Amino acid sequence: MKEPIRLLIIEDNDDDAILEAEALKKGGFDVIFERVDNPMDLREALRKQSWDCVISDYSLPSFSGLDALAIFLESALDIPFIIISGAIGEETAVIAMKAGAHDYIMKSNLNRLVPALQRELREANIRQQKKRAETAIKYEKILLRTLIDNVPDLIYIKDTECRRIVSNDADVGFTGFQSEQEITGKTDLEIFRDEFGKRNHAADMMVLQSGCPQSNSEENIFDSKGNSYWFQCDKIPIRDGEGNITGLVGIFHDISHRKEIEFDLLRSEQSLKKQNLEYEALNKEYLSLNEELTESLERIKRMNDDLIIAKNKAEEGDKLKSSFLANMSHEIRTPLNAILGFSSFLKNPEMSKDRTAEFVDIIEASGKQLLSIINDILEISQIEAGQVRLTVEPVNISKLLNELFLQFKKDASLKGIELILNINNSAQDIITNTDGSKVRQILTNLISNAIKFTSEGKVEFAARVSKNHVLFYVKDTGIGIDPEYQTIIFEPFRQVETTISRNFGGNGLGLSICRALVEKLGGKMTVNSLPNKGSTFSFTIPFVSDKELEMESLPDQIPEKYDWKKHLILVAEDETYNFKFIEEMLSPTHAKILHARDGIEAVELVRQIPDISLVIMDLKMPEMDGYKATKIIKQLRPDLPVIAQTATLISEHKDWIANAGFDKYLSKPLEIRYFMEVIDNFLD
Ligand code: ADP
Repeated sequence: MKEPIRLLIIEDNDDDAILEAEALKKGGFDVIFERVDNPMDLREALRKQSWDCVISDYSLPSFSGLDALAIFLESALDIPFIIISGAIGEETAVIAMKAGAHDYIMKSNLNRLVPALQRELREANIRQQKKRAETAIKYEKILLRTLIDNVPDLIYIKDTECRRIVSNDADVGFTGFQSEQEITGKTDLEIFRDEFGKRNHAADMMVLQSGCPQSNSEENIFDSKGNSYWFQCDKIPIRDGEGNITGLVGIFHDISHRKEIEFDLLRSEQSLKKQNLEYEALNKEYLSLNEELTESLERIKRMNDDLIIAKNKAEEGDKLKSSFLANMSHEIRTPLNAILGFSSFLKNPEMSKDRTAEFVDIIEASGKQLLSIINDILEISQIEAGQVRLTVEPVNISKLLNELFLQFKKDASLKGIELILNINNSAQDIITNTDGSKVRQILTNLISNAIKFTSEGKVEFAARVSKNHVLFYVKDTGIGIDPEYQTIIFEPFRQVETTISRNFGGNGLGLSICRALVEKLGGKMTVNSLPNKGSTFSFTIPFVSDKELEMESLPDQIPEKYDWKKHLILVAEDETYNFKFIEEMLSPTHAKILHARDGIEAVELVRQIPDISLVIMDLKMPEMDGYKATKIIKQLRPDLPVIAQTATLISEHKDWIANAGFDKYLSKPLEIRYFMEVIDNFLD
C-alpha cells in the first residue's frame, strides 16, 4: 500500500485547503494535511513533524506567501514548496521562484497541482538522494582521512605522473615538510633529492607502467634528520571504473624495530656461528690435547711403573747392600779377629810349642778364609769390569775331580755326609782344552755349598762328555732351594737367607762368580732343587777332543825371555810393595828402572831424562795423581808410551784415562804374562 503524503497547507481559508487536498486525492495521492495561517503556527508545524510538501497561498491576512517561503527556507527542509494564488502576476511568480519556491499554480488552474507536485516530489527525492550521497561521500572522505592520518604507516597517493596527490600526516612528517600542501604536486625526485628519491620514483613508475602491485619490498631510508629507518613498502595501482590506471597508493610500514631485532638475531647468529667454530676448534684442540694427555698419562704411568720397579730394585739393592755390608763385616771380622787374637797370644814366650803350632794353624786357616773372601770380591769386581782372562790349556777333568774328591772328603765326613765321585775309573780320562783353575774354582764352590747346606745324606758330583760338551753336576740331599729363589741366587750378593742371624756363612758371591765363569768358559749353569729334598747344580763347558787338542797349538805358553836392557822404564807408584812387585816382574828383562813416588816426581824425571822409553803410571798418587802427570808428560813427549795401572776401575775412570792420553791401562792385580806382553808391544 502506498504511503500517504504529508501535506502542510498555509491557507487562511479552510475550504480552499480542503479543495486543494481534494484535488490531490483525485490525482491519486493519499493525503494527510494540516493547515496553518500564521508564521508562528507555520514554524511550529515545520519543527514538530516532517512533511512531504508545503503548499502556500500567496496572500494571507497576517503574512504573505513570500514570508512563509522565508520561514520555510529557515527550516532548511528540502521538500517542494508550491505557491498557489488567486491572482498572481508574472513578475510575482518570478520573484517567488527566485526566492526559492519550486512552482506556482493559479487557483483557477488547480488541476496542474497534481503533475506539479508529482514532478516536485520526484525532484526533491532526487535532490535528497544526491545530498545523502554527497554527505556519505564527504563522510567517507573524512573517515578515510582520519584513518590514514592516524595510522603510523606512511601513505601517499600519486597521479600517473608520480606527483603526490595525497600524503598522510606520517608521510608529511617523514619528508620533513610542514604541510601536505607543500608536497602536493611534487615527485619524489623533488622531495627527497637523494638516491632513495630516485629509487622510489623509478619503482612507482614501474608500478604505474606495469599495473602490477609491488608488495613487501624492504627499503632502508633516511628521514630529513638523517635517522635511518627500515620500511616494508607496498604499492598498489589505482584504476578507474574502466580499469585505466589513474595513479597509485604507496604504503610504507615502519619495520625498523623488527629489523633491529633481525639484525641483532643475525649478529648473535653470526657470533654464535663464530663461537661455534671457535668451540669446534677448541674442541679439536681439547681432543688432541686430551689424546696427548692420555698419551702422556700412559707414558707417565709406564714411567711410574718403571720408577716403582726401579724404586723396588733400589730398595732391594739397598737392602742387599746393607745385608752385604753386614755379612761382609761379619765374614771379614771373623777371620780377622782370629788372626789378631791368636797373633797376640803368640807374643807370649811361655807358650808351649804345641799351642803355638795350633794357633799358627788357626791364624793360617783364618788368613786363607780372609783371602778367599777378598778374592771373591776381587773376582766379582773383575767379572763386572770385564777383566777376567782365561788361561786355556789341556785339562784332565777326571784327575781334577779326583783331586777335589780328596780335598772335600774330610769336610764331608766331619759333617757325617757321604761324598761320592761318580766316575767310571776304568773309562778313559776326560781331557779337554779349558781353563782348569776356573773349572776347579767352580766345582770347589759348588761342592763346598753342597756340603754346607746338607746336614745328612750325601753329596755326589761327576762329569761326563755329552756330544760336544762336558757336563758337570753336584748333587746333594740338603735343605734345597725354594723355586722363587732359584734364579736370584745367581745374582751377586744374593742369598736365600738375608737376615743377620744366618745359619750359614758365605757372602752370596759364590754362585754369581760360578755362573759368570761358566759362561766365560763357553757353557751354561742351571739348578734343579726341591726344598728339603736337595739340589743339583749342573754346568757345561765345551768339549774339545784329543785329536782337536793335538791339532791346536797350545796357547799361552810361558813367554820367552824378554830382553829390554836397552830400555829405561819409569814406574810411578806410591806404594812400595807395588813398585817392588813391578820391579820383580821386570828384573829378568834387564830393563833399567826409575821410581817416582808421585806425579810431580814422574813429570820432573821425564823432563830431565830424555832416554825414558816407557812409563808405568799408577793413577792414585799423592801430590799429583796419574791423570794430571800423564797429561803433562804427553805435552812434553807425546810419543812416550804411558801405561796406566789401577786397582779400581769404574766407568768414569775410562773417560778420564782416555782424556789424559794414556796409551793403555792395566788393572791390578797385574797378570804377569799379560803385563809383559803389553809392555813388549810398546818397546821396539
Ligand atoms: P754363599 O757364599 O752365601 O754360599 P753362593 O752364591 O754360593 O753364596 O750361594 C748363594 C745362596 O744360594 C746361598 O746363600 C744359599 O742360600 C743358596 N745355595 C747355594 N747352594 C746351595 C745348596 N747346595 N743347597 C741349598 N742352597 C744353596
